[in-house]
This record gives sequence, C-alpha cells and structure tokens, in this order.
Amino acid sequence: MKKVELLAPAGNLEKLKVALTYGADAVFIGGKEFSLRSKASNFSLEEIKEGCEFAHRLGKKIHVTCNIVMHNNDVNHLEEYLINLEKAGVDAIITSSLFMVKLCKKLTNMEVHISTQQSIMNQEAINFWMSQGADRVVLGRECSIENMKTFRKNTPIEIEAFIHGGMCSSYSGKCMLSNLMVNRDANRGGCAYSCRWMYDLYEKDELITKRKEDYFKMASKDLCALKYVPELIEVGVDSFKIEGRRKASNYIACVVKAYRRIIDNYYLNQELEYDKSINDISKCENRLTSHGFLKGNVSVEQMSYTIEETLLKAGEYIALVKGYKDGYVYLDLHNKIEDNTKYLVLSPIEDDYEIMVNELESKETRQVEYTKKEIETVAGKDVRFKCDKVIPEYSIIRLIK
Ligand code: SF4
Repeated sequence: MKKVELLAPAGNLEKLKVALTYGADAVFIGGKEFSLRSKASNFSLEEIKEGCEFAHRLGKKIHVTCNIVMHNNDVNHLEEYLINLEKAGVDAIITSSLFMVKLCKKLTNMEVHISTQQSIMNQEAINFWMSQGADRVVLGRECSIENMKTFRKNTPIEIEAFIHGGMCSSYSGKCMLSNLMVNRDANRGGCAYSCRWMYDLYEKDELITKRKEDYFKMASKDLCALKYVPELIEVGVDSFKIEGRRKASNYIACVVKAYRRIIDNYYLNQELEYDKSINDISKCENRLTSHGFLKGNVSVEQMSYTIEETLLKAGEYIALVKGYKDGYVYLDLHNKIEDNTKYLVLSPIEDDYEIMVNELESKETRQVEYTKKEIETVAGKDVRFKCDKVIPEYSIIRLIK
C-alpha cells in the first residue's frame, strides 16, 4: 500500500527544515512571486534551491505555491520564473490557473497540483483538471470523507486533503471582507482575517449586541483531523495537508510530530497513541479546533467560535537548537530565556522532556567569546548553555505551560 504523504507548510528556511526534520514528507512554500501569503516571508530563488537540496537529501519533496489571482503585470516573467523553479529543484507547483497549468507542462517536468483556491468539490471539476494535465487536485476544505470516497473510486488522479489548520468562513479565496475593510487582498496573500474580528450587530439603528457576550463574530474553529487519519488513509487520500505558512516553527514541529506518529503507527499496525498526539498539539495550538466538514455539514456550535471561548494558552516558543558541541547546546533565540530555569524540550527523535538551563552565555555579533550575563534576548542572538545531554539540531526549547 502506498503510504500517504504528510505535507507541511513553511514560511521560511528554518520552518522548512523543522517540518522535514519532524517528519513531513514534503513541504509547500511560497516564492517571492506568484504566491499567496505575501506576508509569510516568502522564499527567494536561492532559498528555494537550498530548501530543495535539504529536502532531496532526505528523500523528501518541495512544492511551490503559484496561486495568486494573476493580473496583467503578474504574467510578464512567468515563463522565466517556472523554468527557474525547476532549475532550483522544485518537485511541484500549486496553482489555480489553467494558463499556468498549460505553461508549466509545456516548459517543465514539474508536477502541477490544483490549488484549494479552485474549491474543488465535485467529480466534474476533478475530471476537468485531470484532462488538462494536472497531476493532483487539492480538495476544498469543505469536502467530506464520503465525497472523497466517491472521488477516489472514480478517478486515478492524486487527491490532497486538508487535515489541520485554519478554515475560511467562506469558501477559500471567495471572500472580499479583508479587501473591503482594510484594503488587503485575500486573493493576493494579504488576508487580515477580518472574519475573526468582533463586530457590533445593528438592526436598522438598534444595537442588538448590547452585552460583551453578544458580540457578533464570524470566525470558524480550526480543523483538526487527528481522529480521522485511519479513515482518510483507507479512503485512499494521497496527501495530508497541514495549513499555516505564517505559523511559527514551534507550531509546525508539534503538529507534524503529532500526525507523523499516528500515520506511522497506523501502517505498523500498532496502537495509534492519540492521547500523545493530542497532547503534542495542545502544546502549540492556540485556537479551538473541530473536525470541520469531514463528516458533512456541521452545526454553528461545532464550527464557530462563541464568545465564551477564548484562545487556548500555548507553551511559549523560546529557542531553536542550532547544534551541540563539547557539552554546550547552541541556540537561536526567539524569546527571553533565563538562567537556572527549567524548560521543555520538543525533540524530533524522542518524546518531550524537561531540562534545566544552567550557565547561560551569549555572544555579541562581533565578539569571539561567549560571556556570562543576563540575556535580554532578541531573536537570532547567539546563546549557549552547558548540558550533559546531547540535544540534537532543530530541537525546540519552550516554556513549561
Ligand atoms: S477574512 Fe476570513 S473568510 Fe475571508 S479570506 Fe480571510 S480568513 Fe477567509
């Protein structure tokens, strides 16, 4: 049986390496051009090349999103860009444009995946994209497992389904809220998540939302399909997609590790260890989750945030481990760290554990030596601490919740 692909998001090289190290089989990223999530610190061509080399060394893949709604100016350098992506080693592009499908197939050997921006929800749509040369369709987030079963029976094309992350309150990409309210175009990567804001609701001139609990909010809960992994594998889905290119490395590591465990245990015919994976996700998840549309249409309560529900507190991301040498753990700092304090370590190769940070030292940019002093922290600062245990690269240091 072909093993399902676990596909993770990455907004920069650090996140790409974290996702692959924690068990993703492939990562989707955005280039500086033609990609949604324009604010998600998209990759230059050099960074894409480095990401592809890193992935291929591990036998894994890189997909690049080319899914903006193209205006005339966007089309100018498209041919050159696609050729450069292939030269950089990219395995697949993700697009919602028929023109781009045709051009990519004509100029390159990269796979073409049809973006969720197309909201593919029926057999005819799948047949159409297959007839145009697409290698894979990314189904709309509103598809149920029953729908997927039918699609699988009737089509040989690869099917990718969302399993975790943010949901749109509208069909993906068919929303103008953010454009209208703050002039940020959701279809060009600038969504301001206006559906997650709180609104007063009026009927004519009368304010209906008088109490804080009545504030009108359209946000939907995030998707979490941990419990549905076996069913989705048995249906024959080819790729499981985690959403969230703007998310931090901490989040990506926790979510990838959680799904990797369940997928591997399933194929090994072992106990799936849901509780461990739910616990992993609870350490990084700060929004409430539901199973979305996997079981068909859902009630407002299952899907929407209510005012009583607040964001869940997640463990704070402190640092990424850069390496271990001569009894020192070297860190790339993301938040304030304190000496003589216990932290949680998320590891790509073993269960999480606590560790005491002692003898913390830092090095200023032009200094050669590390010095012992209070570390104010600023992202990227060079920091190390003494430790007998070897902590591998890409481990994550977090506050204990
Ligand atoms: S505002 Fe909300 S519903 Fe609209 S595109 Fe953004 S996330 Fe989706």
